[in-house]
Amino acid sequence: SRSEIHYFGAGPAPLPTPIIEAGAAAFQNYKDKGIGIAEISHRSADANEVLAQTKEALATLLDIPTGDDGYEILFLQGGGSGEFSAVVYNLVSVWVERRRQRIAQELGDNEEQVLERLREEVQKELMLDYLVTGSWSLKASQEAARLVGSEYVNVALDARKVNGGKFGDIPAESEWNLTLSKGKGPGAALTYYCDNETVDGVEFPGFPAVLEPKGDDNPIVVADMSSNFISRRVNVRNYSVIFGGAQKNVGVTGITITIVKKSLLPPHSKHADPALLRKLGLPVGPIVLDWPTIAKNNSLYNTLPIFDVWIAGQVMRRLLDMYGTEKIQGQEKVSGTKAEMIYRVLEKYPDTYHIVPVKAIRSRMNICFRVGGGDDAKEKEFLAGAEKRGLQGLKGHRSVGGIRASNYNAVELEGAQKLVQYLEDFAKGT
Ligand code: PMP
Repeated sequence: SRSEIHYFGAGPAPLPTPIIEAGAAAFQNYKDKGIGIAEISHRSADANEVLAQTKEALATLLDIPTGDDGYEILFLQGGGSGEFSAVVYNLVSVWVERRRQRIAQELGDNEEQVLERLREEVQKELMLDYLVTGSWSLKASQEAARLVGSEYVNVALDARKVNGGKFGDIPAESEWNLTLSKGKGPGAALTYYCDNETVDGVEFPGFPAVLEPKGDDNPIVVADMSSNFISRRVNVRNYSVIFGGAQKNVGVTGITITIVKKSLLPPHSKHADPALLRKLGLPVGPIVLDWPTIAKNNSLYNTLPIFDVWIAGQVMRRLLDMYGTEKIQGQEKVSGTKAEMIYRVLEKYPDTYHIVPVKAIRSRMNICFRVGGGDDAKEKEFLAGAEKRGLQGLKGHRSVGGIRASNYNAVELEGAQKLVQYLEDFAKGT
């Protein structure tokens, strides 16, 4: 039964049992209305209430400023991967429109001249910066290159180059080759990184100092937080965009949460006319990934899975109830404690275990290690022994192999303790 299992899968991932139970009840009969929450209209008053409450819980939990100079919280579909594309479509569009306006101010209303100059500037200066520190930021950079062409994508850092061809380290900021520091003009259309690399077990210890806002010419920083969303404090003001799929720390698969600075949306920032983008050979995104459209419609442009939003809201509300005024810092402490326990025992038996990433950047969420020097039979034996104790989902990602213990919010302290005990016993051969 559920109480005998501890699941360490990387996503979809476990949810707190009380949420699963409440979810089962709401699925059948929401608020005693005789109909389930997945059956009601996404435009009903109930659905609107769910949306509003979930947004409010998230804003409270992460201290997200929601005033006019703050952030919009959007719910989208298409997963984390959908946002790999959305960030490109939307932020290239913002960049182009800002350039067009500046050029139009300088050259006046002559559309042909403006277009000609804009074309030149796009070719010379449009740049999307990617910090590639693992499989997911690599995928995001590849999607950008697929959409706009690799000539517009600057891989400002490929972490494999400092680590023998594999992910597992993040070089010092002074070695990043950022457009914003190359004097190429007023900055990249976006600077992208993945805060926690789920496959490689690499997490940024904090916000990169070189990307901090500095007055007028702030870099447009985008972070994928799919696998460490709501697990630690975040200074939201450092970011232009934060996104994450729900299926790890937040809820069930099917929604992606995108927190986007209002200054990048209308009326503050117009996005480029699709006809103009087409003339420039730049892509026009599908409407369901168009942030201005989603924002204008309160995330209800098309049918939103309200059940998913409800689950996310319950998860967030539960954290607020559990940790009170500490808010997300309460969860941060617990996540840190569990991760430390597991890393400590792995370090204690270096003949049996090898932690994949270097210490300074290893993830609190996805703990990646090898057993018996990566010997296949030994790792199979490890996994089989774990299963016998009800410790499931420990197999590493198929692309890298090895073992991965995902330490998401819903993994209980008791689960982490059982894993620690097993790691101890396996190393001792008992
Ligand atoms: N980013 C990260 C960090 C991920 O871990 C994942 C999925 N595991 C994705 C993006 C892709 O998410 P999705 O499968 O929802 O498209």
